Amino acid sequence: MNKQGLLVVVSGFSGAGKGTAMKRLLEKYNTYALSVSATTRAPREGEQDGREYFFKTVQMFEEMIANDELVEYAQYVANYYGTPKAYVEEQLAAGKNVILEIEIQGALKIKQKFPDAVLLFVVPPSAAVLRERLIGRGTENLDVIEARLKRAAEEAEGVEAYDYIVVNDNLEDCVEDINEIIKSEQKRVAKNLTLINNIKDELKSFAEGE
Ligand code: 5GP
Repeated sequence: MNKQGLLVVVSGFSGAGKGTAMKRLLEKYNTYALSVSATTRAPREGEQDGREYFFKTVQMFEEMIANDELVEYAQYVANYYGTPKAYVEEQLAAGKNVILEIEIQGALKIKQKFPDAVLLFVVPPSAAVLRERLIGRGTENLDVIEARLKRAAEEAEGVEAYDYIVVNDNLEDCVEDINEIIKSEQKRVAKNLTLINNIKDELKSFAEGE
């Protein structure tokens, strides 16, 4: 029925827990594919090339831009981040809902290029929880945390461009909310015109047969 999958953009304040939520969503449902971005930032401990990100030098990244290999890209806290095109196209064609876990500049570009994309913004229950989560993660020094909190405040400015807000208080609830939203989006009339037209054609042939 829904041959082509949906493009799902997931943004949210750094530390809102969207990474964990996406992992859980993919574990629970096989209807999703997670796009792995390219970035020029250094790998964090435990991150693997090709799993969390494709880690690139600035020169390699700029070559990807020049060769039109990215669906979108942006600069965030002094690094490049971008979505490789090939995987997204291949998975959408295979009927998967492709998740792009990207920041707001990229999200806006995606909405422009693909008006059918669904934009989700994941928020923590409060700013205090966000700060605690960032400090608790222990992967960044305080300067970087401060830069991210400042950026978080800026990102809240663009939230009107998104289609849905998802509060991540409880992980399982958050994952279920996201899956429900996507399931509803798949039921939009515009996404099901082939089905509707087939039924119309069949009805017509019934009428002609009588
Ligand atoms: P982090 O360094 O914490 O992994 O990611 C920093 C920010 O970059 C996050 O908001 C993340 O969602 C965003 N990001 C990751 N990949 C991409 C991408 O391919 N494109 C864009 N525009 N943002 C990305």
